[in-house]
Amino acid sequence: MAAKLGVIEHRFVRLPDLREAADITGASFWGLPPTYIPLRNSVFYSFAASYAEEVRASAIVGGHNKDDTAVFADVSAAFFAALEKAFRAGSPILRRGRLRIVRPLRQMRKPQVVRLASSMGVPFGLTWSCHRDGKEHCWKCAGCLSRRASFGEAGVEDPLATGGGKVT
Ligand SMILES: [Zn+2]
Repeated sequence: MAAKLGVIEHRFVRLPDLREAADITGASFWGLPPTYIPLRNSVFYSFAASYAEEVRASAIVGGHNKDDTAVFADVSAAFFAALEKAFRAGSPILRRGRLRIVRPLRQMRKPQVVRLASSMGVPFGLTWSCHRDGKEHCWKCAGCLSRRASFGEAGVEDPLATGGGKVT
């Protein structure tokens, strides 16, 4: 998708030691879903801030939506305000560039995001929602069930659901 959109650089970061709550023995995460990865956004945004400093970017854009905010504290406004402050404190370059963390979807529920994406012509066939690894969506995990419900509520046809779940 990044290539189709003309993204100048698409960098992959491997994080093999991050695990979901369900895969961590002996730990309790107070009612969070089994797919919760402890403080994952602190890790992801730290990588993004490092890259932002490298390329002198003035913004980091996150795709969190209102449904995420209701469940995870590490997508809250307070979390991002503190993170922005920490990054500026830790980097004179980011401070001078007035780095901002932008979350344009934060007030929208998932079905609204699907409708917006549909109106913008987002190639849904290139998107991935499944929490499992593979070439096809499993349509059983929380990510797949949420995707199916969101497309259904939005009234938008999901090409992956109708095409057998293959990502091309
Ligand atoms: Zn799945």
